[in-house]
Amino acid sequence: MEKRGILIILSGPSGVGKGTVRKEVFKHDDLNLKYSISMTTRAPRFGEIDGIDYYFVSKERFEQAIKNNELLEYAEFVGNYYGTPKSMVEKELDNGFNVMLEIEVDGANQVIRNCKDCITIFLVPPDFQELEQRIRKRKTEEEQVVQKRLYKARQEIELTNNYRHVVVNDDVESTAQRVIDIIRSYQKK
Ligand code: 5GP
Repeated sequence: MEKRGILIILSGPSGVGKGTVRKEVFKHDDLNLKYSISMTTRAPRFGEIDGIDYYFVSKERFEQAIKNNELLEYAEFVGNYYGTPKSMVEKELDNGFNVMLEIEVDGANQVIRNCKDCITIFLVPPDFQELEQRIRKRKTEEEQVVQKRLYKARQEIELTNNYRHVVVNDDVESTAQRVIDIIRSYQKK
């Protein structure tokens, strides 16, 4: 039988660059990675594709998924629901893939509680000003939402002690390399 894969949780405040680092890490086929596509009630941003970036669903559909126990974890983040569909994660872990969840801290804590062998990585910005600049540069959110995301980011950074690895995202390539090294160190175990 195939060796069961490892669950990897990648968290970090909004705007820290999780997606960019993740895409860099996923270029390495030997890591045997699969990305868990989340379900969200947030509206798609320009260029985001349903079924690739997220499953964009209505609030009713999301609440049904909660009720049917379809989600491994879920959380509310700045007025929207986000959650991890359980079936894909279980299937790919059973197939021997290492499955990466890119999720915020409340949801991550629900998973960490039940998973002793998970790899938990928290990305932090080099400093807060840089984070604010990155969120603003995206130009995808209105001022009120930007403020809420910044407030949430400060709260999230306080909660890094639930994660085994904290990595400063100063430069995409070297940060991705540090994440790769962390994953490889578990593959050897
Ligand atoms: P965004 O709206 O910027 O795409 O995501 C907002 C936050 O929700 C980010 O921190 C992102 O990592 C997190 N997130 C995305 N998918 C999930 C999920 O399935 N569960 C949880 N708990 N958080 C998620």
